[in-house]
Amino acid sequence: MRIRNPLVMLPGPTPMVRSIQEALGRETISYNDPRLVADFSTLIGDLVKLWRCDGIAFVIAGSGTMAMEMGIVNVAAPNDKVLVCSNGYFGDRFVDICSRKGFETEVLRAPRWGESVQTEDIDAKLNEKKFDVLCVTHIESSTGVELPLRELTEMTRASHPDVLVVVDGVASMGGVEFYMDWGVDVMLSCSQKCFGTAPGLGLLWASERALAKRSAISHIAETYIDFEKWVPVMREPMKYWGTPPVNMIWSLCEGMRIIKEEGLENRFRRHREHAYAIRRSLSAMGFSIGAGEKAASPTVTVSLYPDNRGPDDTAFREAVYEEGAHIAGCLGDFAGKGFRVGHMGNIDDNIIVSLIASIERACVKRGCDIEPGVGLAALQRALIERRCR
Ligand SMILES: *Cc1c(COP(=O)(O)O)cnc(C)c1O
Repeated sequence: MRIRNPLVMLPGPTPMVRSIQEALGRETISYNDPRLVADFSTLIGDLVKLWRCDGIAFVIAGSGTMAMEMGIVNVAAPNDKVLVCSNGYFGDRFVDICSRKGFETEVLRAPRWGESVQTEDIDAKLNEKKFDVLCVTHIESSTGVELPLRELTEMTRASHPDVLVVVDGVASMGGVEFYMDWGVDVMLSCSQKCFGTAPGLGLLWASERALAKRSAISHIAETYIDFEKWVPVMREPMKYWGTPPVNMIWSLCEGMRIIKEEGLENRFRRHREHAYAIRRSLSAMGFSIGAGEKAASPTVTVSLYPDNRGPDDTAFREAVYEEGAHIAGCLGDFAGKGFRVGHMGNIDDNIIVSLIASIERACVKRGCDIEPGVGLAALQRALIERRCR
């Protein structure tokens, strides 16, 4: 009999703390009750201020994929040329959305799974011809790769100032360094990753420039995700467009209270420290890391079985689940060759220790040739050192 649920160590959803769950369980009131209106206004204000946005933030019922679609269709006009930089599965999702919408879409792909498209290559491509919109994935959760976003935005603003930059920050926002004033026009995310809330909210930050671009496109085909329908609601939440998910909004308010209490910079450092400790520990147990050390992400780690001859993938992940941690399978080129762990949101050292202990017991029980404790020893050393790289 299982008396506790396994830890949710996925690249979303992520572990939920009690106070966030309690917000979901509150008695629902109307979206235009002054108490909800006040909470929603504070939430939007916090999102705008903390991430230094000169435009507006949107909080809308839906998943991250909805936010991706919303991000693109509001800033790309019908005949616009879009450049997508794809480092894996979610980058390719941008390609799918853009092609279906009929935008003239070109793709720059990372040379290999586990690597990132380089800033110089993007610069060269943008020099080759005129693009209107550039789409990138900050952290590609299928490969555990972090794009050098700041370097990229600085290059784009300096050398291609007319290009609007749309960033999928689903696996990074709230856990990894980023501010809108780096030169990003649309940043998008959702509730169930680094914000540590239940799945159900799409989040999007639009710069003044992005809002101006939407106004310049007279009509977009989409209704539910049209900026122009939601801007009045985000400015004055007593207004109606589509009924906002009241309890989800409260749970994100609580998520934001926790983020503000921890402090963004502390939160960013914690994610890097945990990621480093997890990489050290997985390496000590004989796994290799899907992303190179320089590109390894602070929120998701892809761990590959030794020499691609490791344990049977599905059975191994089932064993880890039995030992108390829910981890994810790999996608694309990495499918079957390893597993993915999410380490984002409201987690602490205890959760990381339990995660590694579960993986280690599963290794031993599945007959891997490791000494019980090697992974934990490496983890404990790293958690004590608190290094990021
Ligand atoms: C999870 C994820 C998405 C998709 O979000 P959903 O809420 O599942 O629609 C998009 N991009 C990245 C990088 C993700 O990690």
